[in-house]
Amino acid sequence: MTGNLAALLYLASSVCFILALRGLSSPESARRGNLLGIFGMALAIGTTVATPGMISLPWIAAATLIGGAIGTVIALKIQMTALPQLVAAFHSLVGAAAVLVAAAAYYNPEALGIGARDHIHTSSLIEMAIGTAIGAVTFTGSVVAFAKLQGLVSGAPLVFRGQHLVNALLGAATIAVCIWLVVDQQPCAFWALVGLSLTLGLLLIVPIGGADMPVVVSMLNSYSGWAASGIGFTLHNNLLIITGALVGSSGAILSYIMCKAMNRSIFNVIFGGFGGETAAAGGAKQEQRPVKTGNADDAAFIMKNASSVIIVPGYGMAVAQAQHALREMADMLKKNGVKVRYAIHPVAGRMPGHMNVLLAEANVPYDDVAELEEINRDFAMTDVAYVIGANDITNPAARSDPKSPIFGMPVLDVEKAKTVLFVKRSLASGYAGIDNELFYRDNTMMLLGDAKKVTEDLLKAL
Ligand code: NDP
Repeated sequence: MTGNLAALLYLASSVCFILALRGLSSPESARRGNLLGIFGMALAIGTTVATPGMISLPWIAAATLIGGAIGTVIALKIQMTALPQLVAAFHSLVGAAAVLVAAAAYYNPEALGIGARDHIHTSSLIEMAIGTAIGAVTFTGSVVAFAKLQGLVSGAPLVFRGQHLVNALLGAATIAVCIWLVVDQQPCAFWALVGLSLTLGLLLIVPIGGADMPVVVSMLNSYSGWAASGIGFTLHNNLLIITGALVGSSGAILSYIMCKAMNRSIFNVIFGGFGGETAAAGGAKQEQRPVKTGNADDAAFIMKNASSVIIVPGYGMAVAQAQHALREMADMLKKNGVKVRYAIHPVAGRMPGHMNVLLAEANVPYDDVAELEEINRDFAMTDVAYVIGANDITNPAARSDPKSPIFGMPVLDVEKAKTVLFVKRSLASGYAGIDNELFYRDNTMMLLGDAKKVTEDLLKAL
């Protein structure tokens, strides 16, 4: 294959990736977006393999087979609820790949045409230093995020005195070592850079806890894109540069949107340690106050007399896979003349768009689904808020308690509805580990049980 043809095919792949991102911006076009992404990636891999000078085809074939097999098994087995930690784990691989490619380029620059040992081109050294630093930060940051989301370590923020100063000093030292590597080309500079960046990645993520993890996962997604872009420069591969930049910038935009949705500062996310000053996540003391509980018949009675219902799905709906029963219940209510809509909080569930994906899977009409800012005012004019497996995203402590880890995050104002039906298995806290005062309010009725079972019973009673 000629260089020009390869460049043209790489360009076609880049266009596919851009269109894939465009498709992923709405649930209606997401499938098409995914297909375009798959096609673009197949084209990119095919073009790379067909490039002249590709001398290690058996190695590539073996690596593709092994990696592809592992990826397929994981994709088939993974539970929807475990996707965030899987994404974090995959980001760590991108970070590690960036560091390994940089190490290979550093020890064998001739193979990549970037100079000779101890005489690597300055521009290549700069690219290598930046790629290594971002890759190493992404690697340890993602490993910590994975461990927290998987519950291997406590999700609580780990904070210590002078944390910001230590991070700032580490950041400054990393930049200094980058310059040392570019000027001196010493192996000790390269490995010092790797060590410092690995430590920085660790320290940036350990203080983050509770409800702020989604922003971190999306920020690490962005870092992994920039790391891939860095590898692209080292390998002189335009497609990798473009793809990395697409992932990096779309991840950064998503982080910004999520920061806005959660009322967090993007700079705090980038520099780490936000949410750390507040209460620790996990293991909140449960209040011993009376709560009003009900069963399916009680809930059906309330629902039948309602003229409007807003459904608020959360993580528990995903765990219980209650979306199909929920849609059937909504259809039944609509048949009886009740106005039914779904309210989606930007961080409901455990990944961005989690609820949208599940509701789309259950064929819930897109027009019935509204984002927080579109629907929040309507709770005051609604008869029933049916909160199914959601907790933190409704917690008024976000408005009233400055010490709460979720303070400042906009929440769905479900308590303004005439009646709030809370479907969950117990009075336990949600991801942020804090008690929800709404369980004890006069207009709340707890429907304790598995979200799918309760909704199916309610459907029968209706
Ligand atoms: P929460 O984690 O706050 O609450 C979910 C509730 O679901 C729990 O309190 C649990 O209570 C209940 N539940 C669990 N399993 C079941 C079941 N089978 N049937 C019924 N109920 C069940 O979830 P939210 O969606 O309200 O909020 C999301 C939280 O996750 C936020 O704090 C967010 O910041 C965080 N997060 C979000 C990410 C994202 O990208 N969206 C990523 C990482 C974290 P019980 O045990 O009593 O049943």
